[in-house]
Amino acid sequence: MEKPEGRNVGMSETQWASDIANWDDETDVLVIGLGAAGASASLEATAAGADVLAVECASGGGGTSATSHGQFYLGGGTPIQQACGFEDSPDEMFAYLMASCGPGPDEAKIRMFCDHSVEHFHWLVDHGVKFKASFYADGTDPMTDDSLSYTGNELAHPWCELARPAPRGHTVAHEGPSGGRLMQSLLAAIGSAGVRVLPDTRCQTLVVDRNRGVVGAVVRSVGQQRCLRARRGVVLATGGFIQNAEMVARHAPRVQACMPTGCETDDGSGILMGLGAGGEAIRMEACLVVLPFVSPIGLRRGVLVNRQGQRFVNEDVYQARAGELALYAQGGEVYLIVDDAIFEPTDLPSEVLAVGEDMTELEAALDIPEASLTHTLERYNRDAARGEDPLFHKAPQYLTPLVHPPFAALGCSEEARCPSFTLGGLHTKPNGEVVTPDGRIVPGLYAAGGAAAGLAAQGYNSGISLSDATFFGRRAGAEAARRKVP
Ligand SMILES: Cc1cc2nc3c(=O)[nH]c(=O)nc-3n(C[C@H](O)[C@H](O)[C@H](O)COP(=O)(O)OP(=O)(O)OC[C@H]3O[C@@H](n4cnc5c(N)ncnc54)[C@H](O)[C@@H]3O)c2cc1C
Repeated sequence: MEKPEGRNVGMSETQWASDIANWDDETDVLVIGLGAAGASASLEATAAGADVLAVECASGGGGTSATSHGQFYLGGGTPIQQACGFEDSPDEMFAYLMASCGPGPDEAKIRMFCDHSVEHFHWLVDHGVKFKASFYADGTDPMTDDSLSYTGNELAHPWCELARPAPRGHTVAHEGPSGGRLMQSLLAAIGSAGVRVLPDTRCQTLVVDRNRGVVGAVVRSVGQQRCLRARRGVVLATGGFIQNAEMVARHAPRVQACMPTGCETDDGSGILMGLGAGGEAIRMEACLVVLPFVSPIGLRRGVLVNRQGQRFVNEDVYQARAGELALYAQGGEVYLIVDDAIFEPTDLPSEVLAVGEDMTELEAALDIPEASLTHTLERYNRDAARGEDPLFHKAPQYLTPLVHPPFAALGCSEEARCPSFTLGGLHTKPNGEVVTPDGRIVPGLYAAGGAAAGLAAQGYNSGISLSDATFFGRRAGAEAARRKVP
């Protein structure tokens, strides 16, 4: 069977094992893709005693994980939280994630993740990932080498009333984006563990046996097709699908207007292969959408309004929550109103869309219905002067009347769009087994990371994706390694 090299766009057909005359190589566990999920699966499968072969379509491992900011969402009382003086527990973390990762969060996965989060922290450290016991209070994304920060809505209404807030963002200690540092550590650990790696090798299709399920894969390596046999299981760790415009148009059309972020290889190939083998994909419409102009933290004192000049959210929510509401409920046309006292020029991909000496001028420049913005700001300023926000409950420290002209409206233009990546993917059990639409498992097939639907059913907290990829990647690798083959 000859398939074209390059991008898959529809469900990938499987190949029957009975049609394969000779296997070119074999292993216990075959891992497809070597980002954070694939590396973690490889390490745990090896630790469980399996022979592991990892194939990677790029010249080396890393994937989107290596381009990320290196933030993990971890809690329940990690040594970093404790050293920085924050109290947390698995139950508080669970309450928060159940309330914020919805609608329809996967309770079983969230429970397991919270109960084992401290253990996962130690596993990462044991595999060379470094965190620093220092708290970054100036925002969500430390560009210093500090590790701990708030990376979600823990302090914002209504979540602060639903669970005791604690910072759970754990950024790999490094100045600037630290995903590269993270992947250096995990790939070095793979080398030491003796995982065999086939670079420049793109997996094209899965091989199935009528009785034993998924038993291997057909790959294309340096222009040649090769058949790889997996004695125990195959782990799909190929990342999400934000770079596959056809899949985005079909499954997540609302983010077509956003800026896709992630490597070119985030083309959904693993999801399509999993579908071809009988798996189900769920929450395919769910995406991270970042509203890039509600950060840095001082801009939380601004007022976020829609096309009608009305507020729609407390401005101290996390930028991903603001992004979801702005795109999904307001059609993406929103503006952050600031005055001269709080305006901070930043290098973020936002723009000053209009400037005015008063709200009447801003309204006219933004084509907002007359008197609407004026009314919103009059009400906001009156409440803020009393330290109150009865409409949306923004925290008092961000409530400052906007009274210092000139006033400006920040927003996105055609060029500066909201960054986005996908959160949906193959439906998996907490142990990584891929599930069929009727609730059975696809024997021998596992998925993790961006290729699987993870903890965030929508509402996104930064760090969730790398935690998802590594935590559930580990489980998928271990489960595949332990599989008893009929
Ligand atoms: C700019 C940016 C910053 C981010 N920052 C954070 C952050 O700080 N914290 C966080 O939690 N999340 C972050 N994310 C999201 C996070 O990086 C991803 O969700 C996560 O890295 C996914 O890991 P993965 O292992 O599933 O995929 P990847 O890391 O993308 O790994 C998949 C690998 O599979 C390979 N591959 C793909 N298809 C095939 C195929 N058919 N055959 C063989 N190999 C294949 C790819 O080349 C790649 O190496 C960020 C994303 C971006 C874009």
